[in-house]
Amino acid sequence: MLNQPLPPCQAACPIHQDVREYINQISKGNFSKALEVIMEVNPMPASLGLICAHHCEDECRRKEVDEALSIRGLKCFAVDKGVDAPLPKQAPPSGKRAAIIGSGPAGLTAAQTLGCLGHQVTVYEREKTSGGALRNHIPYYRLPDATIDKDIDYLQRLGVEFKNGFQLGENLDLEDLKKDYDAVILSLGLASSRGLPIPGCQHSSCTLALPFLYDVKHKGRRLSGEHVIVIGGGNVAMDVARSAVRAGAGSVQVACLESREEMPAFEWEIEEAMEEGVKFFPSWGPVEVLTENDGITGLKVKAVKAVFDEYGRFSPTFFEDQLSVIKGNMVIFSIGQGADFTCLEGCEVAIDERNRLVFDAESMSTTDRGVFACGEMVTGPGTAVQSMANGRKAAIAVDAYLKSEAVSLPAEPEALPELVEEVAGKVRPVTREALGLVEAEKRMTNFDPIELGYSVLQGLKESRRCLRCGAGAEQIEVDCAHCLTCLRTCPYDVPHVNAEGKVELRQDVCQSCGLCLAVCPAVTIKFKARELEEAEAAIDKALQEMQGKGEPKVLVLTCAYAPFAMDWFNQDFFAKKPANVALVKFPCVAKVDTLHMLQAYNQGADAVLIAGCAEDGELTCPYYDVSHWTAKRVDRVKGILKELEIKPETVSLLFTPPLEGREFADKVAAFLETLKG
Ligand SMILES: Cc1cc2nc3c(=O)[nH]c(=O)nc-3n(C[C@H](O)[C@H](O)[C@H](O)COP(=O)(O)OP(=O)(O)OC[C@H]3O[C@@H](n4cnc5c(N)ncnc54)[C@H](O)[C@@H]3O)c2cc1C
Ligand code: SF4
Ligand code: SF4
Repeated sequence: MLNQPLPPCQAACPIHQDVREYINQISKGNFSKALEVIMEVNPMPASLGLICAHHCEDECRRKEVDEALSIRGLKCFAVDKGVDAPLPKQAPPSGKRAAIIGSGPAGLTAAQTLGCLGHQVTVYEREKTSGGALRNHIPYYRLPDATIDKDIDYLQRLGVEFKNGFQLGENLDLEDLKKDYDAVILSLGLASSRGLPIPGCQHSSCTLALPFLYDVKHKGRRLSGEHVIVIGGGNVAMDVARSAVRAGAGSVQVACLESREEMPAFEWEIEEAMEEGVKFFPSWGPVEVLTENDGITGLKVKAVKAVFDEYGRFSPTFFEDQLSVIKGNMVIFSIGQGADFTCLEGCEVAIDERNRLVFDAESMSTTDRGVFACGEMVTGPGTAVQSMANGRKAAIAVDAYLKSEAVSLPAEPEALPELVEEVAGKVRPVTREALGLVEAEKRMTNFDPIELGYSVLQGLKESRRCLRCGAGAEQIEVDCAHCLTCLRTCPYDVPHVNAEGKVELRQDVCQSCGLCLAVCPAVTIKFKARELEEAEAAIDKALQEMQGKGEPKVLVLTCAYAPFAMDWFNQDFFAKKPANVALVKFPCVAKVDTLHMLQAYNQGADAVLIAGCAEDGELTCPYYDVSHWTAKRVDRVKGILKELEIKPETVSLLFTPPLEGREFADKVAAFLETLKG
């Protein structure tokens, strides 16, 4: 699968997490396995579960059917429920040591990657705690400390050493580090907040976004009824405005150059801020902070004509004669962040005349040999996960440097194309599970976390919405008889007759239901995901394990997505299940073929029960016609058994509502009774 196009979610994720696989594990109830998949490339799953900008969701193909998967919500769910996920595999110790300065997402990802490659890593950070801007500035109500602690704890278990309270340029010296370590990575982020040189901006009641957020978060700064004006329309401005509400502002107003539609903040952030009483003045540019008797009285603003020029470049123009005043007595500038390179003064790391790091993006290195850089200090402002991707690149470059090899940074993967309309229109619509939020009146009074997360049922339901893009059927063309059977069976019109009159199974848009696999007379359709092969191997293993454990040996082939077949859900059934009964899970019983049933008999089974999901109630199967086609195959096997003089009643088919564990147990017991006769 390596060079095949990736599902759009995975391709769009800057660290290319295997989204499809972790969602699949959630839908099978394997929550720890889901977290393990996430942690292979993501050292901050807990934090990103809450604050990730989820670039993946923008590309999710489900949005062509109804709404994108809540991929971030499902990550958060996996972190909550997947408590005992093991650490990723680590290479044997290399004997090389790397120092990373700055413990934000970029530095921590570089640490994880280097740690997994066998290098000893120490992360230096000037703050008392690690996590970068996530720890320093993102408000508690969006990201509690305990969540970031989970991620740091995981890195410590991986062997990463943390040294806090060390500031480069103060009590930490780059030359010393170069002597002590084989390589150094700078990941200092964008630590300085920008202001605006407008009249009145020097007033003591004017402040900058990052110091304000830091003081509210770490120094307990509270307001006593101030009327706050926030300048800026991005996500940081939303954090400032909403923190001001919680810190005790009398009112909070946001003024920004952009129109409401152009505002760079997420729409949901703007809406949540509005629910919390924040007022917006889009398309107004700041002119002057007005003062009277030493106090601020308001912000003079002028109407914006356009923010961008004809080439899309930032170049605001105004209606000079349209002025207004927004009343308030405190102003917070939230118009962007910049790098602060003063800590590199006197070092061999060059900074150019425009205060930019001189940096080679191919080798991720600075002008000082052995000193690398990553994260927002080289990319400029972005999102946490984008910084993480850049941190991974730096680690790959450092690994090559430590091994004296040429650097080869991975190329960006190709994504599967959009879901064609005729297929999207045939997928059963399922409403996206909403992530609960604390009510506005309650949440605006304190800094407690506001997101409620998914219940187990919600997590299972949401995960089942995934279309498993690219994991489904694959046609082995040389063997295909072009008999049209798959074309007649597929409920989604995936197989087509092409211009040459041949059947073409468009695997890019396959919905992975598996119905065609079992009907193809030439057995020329395979399932790309390995689960089917695993199920086939599991039949073998289960029958071997049942040897000598009683008669009759009964094999239950169940749907892997049904909670009644999950041991944590249906504990009573699994505790009492006799040793002569074994369960083997198929990725939907639509994929149980006549050959699987006969294989079971051939390998010693005395009876086979196919247990699928009844198409009613919660967690309905997303596929069509499963019971119809499975019943046909069971009937065919009955016929073959008869010819072989084996009792046809020893194979049976039952459908149970997925959440009815007791009913499933009773049905299995009833089947066992029928075998006694
Ligand atoms: C208020 C706010 C809200 C945000 N919200 C989101 C969000 O919801 N989702 C999202 O994806 N992204 C968000 N971001 C962006 C995200 O935080 C950044 O993209 C990310 O943190 C950048 O990672 P980094 O590792 O490059 O730098 P940083 O996270 O900034 O880490 C740099 C670290 O270096 C340390 N450091 C700096 N100088 C020195 C020195 N001289 N010596 C030692 N240590 C030093 C700093 O203390 C800091 O810990 C937000 C940013 C802010 C400011
Ligand atoms: S439907 Fe699933 S596999 Fe396809 S893009 Fe969305 S999350 Fe990824
Ligand atoms: S697996 Fe299902 S969706 Fe895919 S081609 Fe076969 S029948 Fe169609």
